[in-house]
Amino acid sequence: MKLRICHLYGNLMNTYGDNGNLLMLQYTAKESGYEVETEIVSVGDDLDTSRYDLIFFGGGQDYEQSVVSRDLQTKKEALCAYIEAGGVILGICGGFQLLGKYYQTLKGETYPGIGAIDFYTISKKDRLIGDTEMYSDRFQETYFGYENHAGRTYLGDKVQGLGRTVQGYGNNDDDKVEGVVYKNAFGSYFHGPFLVRNPHFAQRLVDLAMNKEAQIKN
Ligand code: GLN
Repeated sequence: MKLRICHLYGNLMNTYGDNGNLLMLQYTAKESGYEVETEIVSVGDDLDTSRYDLIFFGGGQDYEQSVVSRDLQTKKEALCAYIEAGGVILGICGGFQLLGKYYQTLKGETYPGIGAIDFYTISKKDRLIGDTEMYSDRFQETYFGYENHAGRTYLGDKVQGLGRTVQGYGNNDDDKVEGVVYKNAFGSYFHGPFLVRNPHFAQRLVDLAMNKEAQIKN
């Protein structure tokens, strides 16, 4: 059996070692007895989600996000349908932000996301930087990471965070919520890389990606 990974904008969105998440997914899948195939889908490419079991969307600086935000509108419909159907996706930092409605920069420019999940992000002057820790009530697990972002993310009333911030900031400097979870779509501000620091989460993603029945139930 083969795990087919899509590295969404992998040549543009890869700050703070996010490519390590890809290496970790490949390692975890191989340890679980699967073959692995990874493809970068980037600007100008068609996104055929039926070709993938798992999508990874890493972080990036504002300039890269502006380019990606524009192109993403051509992939929005496919990505939203994939997420609604229970497809597995992990977005980190800049990638996480673009799963929501929009990301507004310090200069006041607004980069549209795909709006697959009800949240938005607005930048403020002091960046949120440092080591982080969250506790996920849903999975009853602790995750560690590192954050560096200007964006403050605010989840809609019905939307669940991935965890509660124990150390650092997470989504913003107000509500102590970190990341997002909707069906099998996950977002987090944790670099680290996240999956290398939290192998149990990498295992969860691989298991979910390879078990289509569990995907639909979530
Ligand atoms: N440019 C975004 C921000 O500063 C995302 C940064 C990142 O992905 N590290 O909030």
